[in-house]
Amino acid sequence: MTSDKPAPPAAAKQVSCPTCGGASVYAPSNAFRPFCSERCKNVDLGAWASESFRMPVNASPEDQVTDDDVALRSSVSH
Ligand SMILES: [Zn+2]
Repeated sequence: MTSDKPAPPAAAKQVSCPTCGGASVYAPSNAFRPFCSERCKNVDLGAWASESFRMPVNASPEDQVTDDDVALRSSVSH
């Protein structure tokens, strides 16, 4: 409806770093936003990686069995 949006102030927005809770500059100048530093970002990513590493791989063994079965059949059925 209206085209005027409240223009963001030139000052960089500050958020709390998810890792350490410290002040973090949420602006393109901060490549690690919303984290305050590269270290905090890496800490979070590390936690994420280890978390997903714990998840069991969703691979169904039946698929491999089927593949083997087909190969076996083609070599046996003659
Ligand atoms: Zn931090």
